Amino acid sequence: MSRSADPARYDLEGLRDRVLAEEGGTVDDSIPELAGADADLCAIALALPDGTVRGSTQADVPFSIQSAVKPFLFALALVDTGGEALHRIGIEPTGEAFDAIKLESGTGRPPNPMVNAGALLTAALVDGGDVEGRNERIRRGLAAFAGRELEVDEDVARSEHLLGDRNHALAHLMRAEGTLEVGADDAVAVYARACATLVDAEALAVMGATLACGGVNPVTGERVLPEESARDVVSVMATCGVYDGSGRWMRGVGIPAKSSVSGAIVLSAPRTLGAAVISPPLDERGTSVRGRIACERLSDELGLHVFG
Ligand code: GLU
Repeated sequence: MSRSADPARYDLEGLRDRVLAEEGGTVDDSIPELAGADADLCAIALALPDGTVRGSTQADVPFSIQSAVKPFLFALALVDTGGEALHRIGIEPTGEAFDAIKLESGTGRPPNPMVNAGALLTAALVDGGDVEGRNERIRRGLAAFAGRELEVDEDVARSEHLLGDRNHALAHLMRAEGTLEVGADDAVAVYARACATLVDAEALAVMGATLACGGVNPVTGERVLPEESARDVVSVMATCGVYDGSGRWMRGVGIPAKSSVSGAIVLSAPRTLGAAVISPPLDERGTSVRGRIACERLSDELGLHVFG
């Protein structure tokens, strides 16, 4: 068996140089703000259980979290509903795109919390009463996961809300099925704002590490969610986090993760570390091309594959 490198000394800069040499993929153009992203932004960060956070060059450059927020919305919904969210949303992978207009047959529930239908519902299940209250609950919750305050890109939030036609369609469909109890437009507004939260690779790595450490933020020491809920969230990341690329991801990388259209990927390697990669060009399944390669190498070189 090969000896794995030590995450505390692993050459993140060298990994960044190696993945920057990789070409391919296209930057998402669903909203103007994402279309204008720097295709050569590339950063990798690790957060370890002892609270050490390590970042490559550009690990402090902000980007909108997009769908990498979904595991954390699910976590907050689990906490705020006392676990009831597990019964309101399925946990099965769909094999379909992130924004497929489809609910679970027979129940009308979203198929899982990692696709848009599920995330629209988890964002509606958090405490807060109205749009402002839920936005505030999510702001505080995400800050606890990151161990610091996070800003929102108001332009991104506005564009996502205005231009997210498929999200509006999903919200209306869930209203029709009786699964979404808040107003459809309100649901989209809260979800869009959560997606517009600005993180950098280091903050996102700490968020991933908080899940990997059973719900305790390794930097602040704060328990953000119960251990059982952290396990639920990481399990669903493992099976559904990379949409219709989840099977390929588990085979090749083998670390529970969530991809996003901004090109961010958050990883939670149970009891071992959290990590984040950002690189905007995406493959056909909405996964960052360089991000996936970086994660494969990290997994291989640090011996992180859960079935390794
Ligand atoms: N805000 C994006 C949307 O709802 C997120 C999708 C993603 O990152 O995969 O369309």
